[in-house]
Amino acid sequence: MATLFTQIVQREIPADIVYEDDLTLAFRDIAPKAPTHILVIPKKEIVSLAELTAEDEAIVGRCVMVAHKVAQAEGLDGGYRLVCNSGDDGGQEVPHLHFHVLGGRKLTWPPG
Ligand code: 5GP
Repeated sequence: MATLFTQIVQREIPADIVYEDDLTLAFRDIAPKAPTHILVIPKKEIVSLAELTAEDEAIVGRCVMVAHKVAQAEGLDGGYRLVCNSGDDGGQEVPHLHFHVLGGRKLTWPPG
């Protein structure tokens, strides 16, 4: 069974896609926690940071580069936050690796 996010990659579930390349997809979060909230995912089904292998290094690097590209395209010139929740204690709900790009307001620290 394809993950929720793979279904978005395959256009089986609609999403507001803002960027795509051979390795990644970026789309707006359905329940934004900031004025700009975009998810950057690898097209490869990787559950979380804990499941990464050495061969995924380029994929993760691409995700981070895409996150910055998206933040620039969104005009987040004052800064933004890149978050990757991993596992239950990390608050991960969707078991397909994803990076949250959050910005457009002054973010507080630490997170809850
Ligand atoms: P997590 O808690 O796993 O780090 O984050 C999952 C994120 O996916 C949440 O911010 C949630 O709002 C978002 N999300 C869940 N289902 C969908 C969906 O069907 N479409 C989109 N665009 N975002 C989703």
